Amino acid sequence: MEYEAVIGLETHVQLKTRSKMWCGCAHEFGAPPNTQVCPVCLGLPGVLPVANEEALRLTALSGLLLNCEVARHAKFDRKNYFYPDMPKNYQISQYDCPSTVGGHVDFEFDGRVVTVRITRAHLEEDVGKSFHFDRMSGLDFNRAGVPLLEIVTEPDLTSAEMAYAYLNALKDILTYGGVSDCDMEKGMVRCDVNVSVRPKGQKELGCKIEIKNMNSFSGVRRALQYEIPRQIEVLREGGTLVQETRRWDDVAEITDTMRTKEQAHDYRYFPDPDLLPFAPSENWLAAIRDRVVELPLARKQRFIRQYQLPASDAETFVNDIRLGDYFESVAPRTANPKAAANWIINNLRAQLAATGAGLDSLKFGPDAIPDLIALVENGRISSKIAQEVFAEMFVTGDNPSAIVEKKGLTQVSDTGAIEKLCEEAIAAHPRSVADFRAGKTNALNFLKGQVMKMSKGKANPALVGELLERKLNS
Ligand code: ADP
Ligand code: MG
Ligand code: ZN
Repeated sequence: MEYEAVIGLETHVQLKTRSKMWCGCAHEFGAPPNTQVCPVCLGLPGVLPVANEEALRLTALSGLLLNCEVARHAKFDRKNYFYPDMPKNYQISQYDCPSTVGGHVDFEFDGRVVTVRITRAHLEEDVGKSFHFDRMSGLDFNRAGVPLLEIVTEPDLTSAEMAYAYLNALKDILTYGGVSDCDMEKGMVRCDVNVSVRPKGQKELGCKIEIKNMNSFSGVRRALQYEIPRQIEVLREGGTLVQETRRWDDVAEITDTMRTKEQAHDYRYFPDPDLLPFAPSENWLAAIRDRVVELPLARKQRFIRQYQLPASDAETFVNDIRLGDYFESVAPRTANPKAAANWIINNLRAQLAATGAGLDSLKFGPDAIPDLIALVENGRISSKIAQEVFAEMFVTGDNPSAIVEKKGLTQVSDTGAIEKLCEEAIAAHPRSVADFRAGKTNALNFLKGQVMKMSKGKANPALVGELLERKLNS
């Protein structure tokens, strides 16, 4: 019997706010323990939470980026449990009326575009962190109250690799959209993995097993690469799986049981009486719609379609947004956007890296690269000389024709002058001539190189090839 895996992910992403969710405390990474706390995030009795409006905005913005509907009426609920990292004994979250519902994420996987449905994305607060020492434990509440967005998928993912690709796409969307920095090293993205297996072709889902608190995408992939075959093996051997929560042991590279359904928490959710419902007005939402940016996949597909670029160039312009924006300021000025992409990706990027300069301090304007392309296409300069012109243009900002003029770089297409150089080359390299006549076509390239060198790169290479070949064959 063949089995297939079914995976749903719950991803917690830290929102890009300057302060915490319900108080004004900062949440700088790496601050000494308990230096970014106040009575509100310490959960002292009698304090009142006040919502961070930017966190609400980023939640709605995330909803739009994930193609969700932003609810016109959402509320905050208390998720009750008793644990040292949560001094209030409840976490504020959203239960049955989340802020955003019903979206989808499209991403490239295995050479095609895959769509994963998003059940919901809701707002909640982070909790403190426990540290266990030899004879005591410590608690750091710097993270308590940091705004998190929990993004829940439908069980649409079917392999460890696909889950990994989805997480990377999600990260790209949220960083692109300015919703989160998604810095894994700083614990800004954490993930609960739900996975089951079922006989291929069966409609009903298999028994769900949850692997909690994964803090790296590669960890998620490895955990699934272990867990899926484990579950299949249990079924193959006639065993049964029970719904349970497991933990991933990154050292042993195995999952093991944390708790079963009987030991599951009952969180006794109820609406937080200290907080008003979240009911965005049309104006408030309109301002957020203005913040929606083009998503990475859409941008890539548009660059390919609009400018006839190969996928690899389009990807470069997706990964380096500013370089891509610069390309878009240049591309409409030339009939050969692919050539412009080459100049920008190869030459401009290298010069910027070498000099540490930025795109905003470029000395030449958006017409310079199109002009350079035209000089090559009209045969006024060779592509080799064009490299030299570009380097000069980068330093001085002079326009390419002026540089060609000033330095006398115009390509020589004067047949008589080139013919003379060809004759000199033929006279100086009798071996190569003999090789060519014996059928070694490489010899022609060598002679061509000699002529180009003698002309200091200025001879029209196509013409050189033509004349040489004619002379050698005559
Ligand atoms: P819970 O209430 O236990 O959190 P949910 O039904 O809300 O469970 O689902 C949580 C996550 O688990 C979602 O991402 C969902 O897609 C996924 N999921 C649900 N059932 C299964 C299943 N049988 N196999 C794999 N994933 C599942
Ligand atoms: Mg869950
Ligand atoms: Zn605080």
